[in-house]
Amino acid sequence: MAQSMLQFIHVDRKTPTKRGAKRRKEDFSEIYADYKPAKAKEQASRCSQCGVPFCQQGCPLSNNIPDWLLLAANGRLEEAYHASSATNNMPEICGRICPQDRLCEGACVIEQSGHGTVTIGAVEKHITDTAWEEGWVVPIKPPRERAQSVGIIGAGPAGLTAAEELRRKGYQVTVYDRYDRGGGLLVYGIPGFKLEKDVVARRLAHLEEGGVIFKYNAEIAAKTGTGKTSFADLRANHDTVLIATGVYKARPLKIPALEGAGSVEALAFLTASNRKGLGDAVPEFDTGEISAEGKRVVVIGGGDTAMDCVRTAVRQGAKSVTCLYRRDKENMPGSAREVQNAEEEGVVFEWLAAPEAVVRTKTGALKSVKAARMKLGPPDASGRKRPDPTGETFDVKADMVICALGFDPEDLPKLWGQSGLVVNRWGAVQIDFRTMETRLPGVFAAGDIVRGGSLVVWAIKDARDAADAMHAHMKKAAKTAQVAAE
Ligand SMILES: Cc1cc2nc3c(=O)[nH]c(=O)nc-3n(C[C@H](O)[C@H](O)[C@H](O)COP(=O)(O)OP(=O)(O)OC[C@H]3O[C@@H](n4cnc5c(N)ncnc54)[C@H](O)[C@@H]3O)c2cc1C
Ligand code: SF4
Repeated sequence: MAQSMLQFIHVDRKTPTKRGAKRRKEDFSEIYADYKPAKAKEQASRCSQCGVPFCQQGCPLSNNIPDWLLLAANGRLEEAYHASSATNNMPEICGRICPQDRLCEGACVIEQSGHGTVTIGAVEKHITDTAWEEGWVVPIKPPRERAQSVGIIGAGPAGLTAAEELRRKGYQVTVYDRYDRGGGLLVYGIPGFKLEKDVVARRLAHLEEGGVIFKYNAEIAAKTGTGKTSFADLRANHDTVLIATGVYKARPLKIPALEGAGSVEALAFLTASNRKGLGDAVPEFDTGEISAEGKRVVVIGGGDTAMDCVRTAVRQGAKSVTCLYRRDKENMPGSAREVQNAEEEGVVFEWLAAPEAVVRTKTGALKSVKAARMKLGPPDASGRKRPDPTGETFDVKADMVICALGFDPEDLPKLWGQSGLVVNRWGAVQIDFRTMETRLPGVFAAGDIVRGGSLVVWAIKDARDAADAMHAHMKKAAKTAQVAAE
């Protein structure tokens, strides 16, 4: 018998079991368990199958959420997987790390009516993890091979998504990445307690099996040389090119005495930690230079990166971890779920606190961070309340300071010797949003390099749009070539 929906009246919202803070602080494994099949069915059945599904409108991919919730509630998981993967190239990753509280779940009408949102992300993860276990994720088999080739710069979520979409259409796809592994920030930025690395490795293997070629330690640069391929050569070798390089230039914090021993940039800290977890040699970690073990750690920033840093420091065995953020909890950019997890794990949050200076001993050793107490004024240009100093200051003792203020694009036109590659004043690549094409014909761009630091789900959305546009571009070029040959 079909499972009736609208069960939110009788069935309470239940997220998957979360490991206790004491236990989970001891390792880098994910903190949420999977639903048992009966629980997934039950939770999916809470959906009211809205005629106008606000959850779908809240999802950048317009995922057909009510349909796959209905199928999941009825135990038809294979069909649910097909419905979910029709619009999303990595639903198990989105299920794990999308900030659902700000997207689909935040828009769910049941949440709005006070019953607690349908646990969309957890059901999405359950559906796709089951699909992998059951062998429903089958290798990519293009209906026909095409001679045209695509060069993709960057093996992050944007590059991987475009690679899959274009390979499915039969193009010869090569992905170039300057790292030694694929995954981009999914592997070297985001820690394992949010996203275990074998979940990403499984996706990479799936693409390789489907015929996508990966070239690692292959940096795109201005000139070809050891480990480097010039952008011009890459362009000459492929019919279309996708720039999906993400953003890696850390935003600087300009306060006195920050430079020096004990001062670490967020991505360097997270990458070292992720590399250790993957079994790589990381000398600067082993010497203690970039490890939080036994230290009083102060993290500056209030976004997802800062939350990942504080929780990584906890797991590395820091003596204490304090997060300084200049606005209050309600106005911070990081996911509320991650803040709660960090608080449970013992992180101390100093809200309304802006760093003013780093205090060092005569020998240059880190002593403390001096912070100004702030109060919130009227909203600024970003729409969030502006922090203003109250005049009060305080010190937080520190042996390590991690700056997590976000990232900007690198200067691609200069790095690649391409003055024709137009970027905006922040360095993000400018595209025509109708075609995803840059000012260089046949060169497209997607993901963080276009938007600035954003979300995985937006990288997927942009890359799907770019892949469609690249397909249209190459079909047109093939047709023109055929006409000319006749
Ligand atoms: C610490 C951290 C935590 C985050 N947490 C979340 C989260 O919980 N949820 C969420 O949705 N988003 C999160 N994000 C944001 C998310 O990771 C990004 O929005 C997403 O990864 C962007 O995808 P991308 O493919 O555009 O870029 P990236 O993932 O950055 O991939 C770009 C790839 O391009 C390669 N590359 C760069 N330049 C070159 C070159 N010249 N030649 C060759 N290769 C090159 C890089 O090596 C990299 O592999 C987080 C980001 C950070 C930094
Ligand atoms: S908004 Fe909530 S209740 Fe409505 S269809 Fe989406 S998940 Fe179901």
